Amino acid sequence: MGNKLGKIIVVKLGGVAFSSSDTTIEDIVNLQKQGKSLVIVHGGGKLITEWLANQGISAKFINGERVTDKVTLEVAISVLAGLVNKEIVAAINSLGGQAVGISGVDGALIQSRVKNIELGYVGRIVKVNTTPLEVLLQSGYIPVVAPVSLHSSDKPEEAIRVLNVNADTVAGEIATAMDTERLIFLTDVVGICDQSGKLLPRLLPSEAEVLVASGVAAGGMIPKINACLRALSNTSSTCVIDGRQPHALLRNIEGGNDGTTIRAV
Ligand code: ADP
Ligand code: MG
Repeated sequence: MGNKLGKIIVVKLGGVAFSSSDTTIEDIVNLQKQGKSLVIVHGGGKLITEWLANQGISAKFINGERVTDKVTLEVAISVLAGLVNKEIVAAINSLGGQAVGISGVDGALIQSRVKNIELGYVGRIVKVNTTPLEVLLQSGYIPVVAPVSLHSSDKPEEAIRVLNVNADTVAGEIATAMDTERLIFLTDVVGICDQSGKLLPRLLPSEAEVLVASGVAAGGMIPKINACLRALSNTSSTCVIDGRQPHALLRNIEGGNDGTTIRAV
């Protein structure tokens, strides 16, 4: 394609990090104006849990992953590809940025198969089609990706065509599939912590693996670490930072050493 994009920065916005008053949105707009190529992936799990509760359904998790029955899937698609995605896109565009929302279903961006029966309608990502992201970036838009995926099935008559996917995993797979310089997770803790709760500023991939294997990293931290480890095959730096801190994103990209950085050397 025509324009040269330069290396991409993939940012995953977690639980706390996408209220429209958040400085994160300002940072995203600022970085776009500096000419950086950003891809944003968002979660929205906490809102899905709320919406399910409104319908009298309680959420269930196995190893940090949501168990997804048909009603949960419908709520997840509606909340993620609807409300949360549009709120973020609206906030970026309102502050003078240029963003377009896209779900993993659109342009067959994220393709998946059912991961295991226990988790229900949850996808294991089998393919990332980066073309829609490249087209948007080439045209000067920040793609804002909602974590749902196209069910890639051997049975075309299969009724369920959309699967829920973990947002951290989506961010990791996009970072792995593109020419990425950095993968950043904004979350609601200071970073990755040891068993006494102390921040670990730097981790080698082998050390991060031990944290998962030993259970020190649990729940929602597991898919983040796994995503970082996978993305390190082609991404020089991966970070988990505190999205509650004002301008955490901008400071990280400008070289601040907040949160946890996982890198090979
Ligand atoms: P997000 O919305 O950012 O995905 P999650 O709740 O899914 O947030 O994941 C972050 C959570 O992971 C933290 O709030 C914390 O409770 C949990 N966690 C588990 N193990 C660790 C660890 N070793 N260090 C830091 N946080 C951890
Ligand atoms: Mg999470």
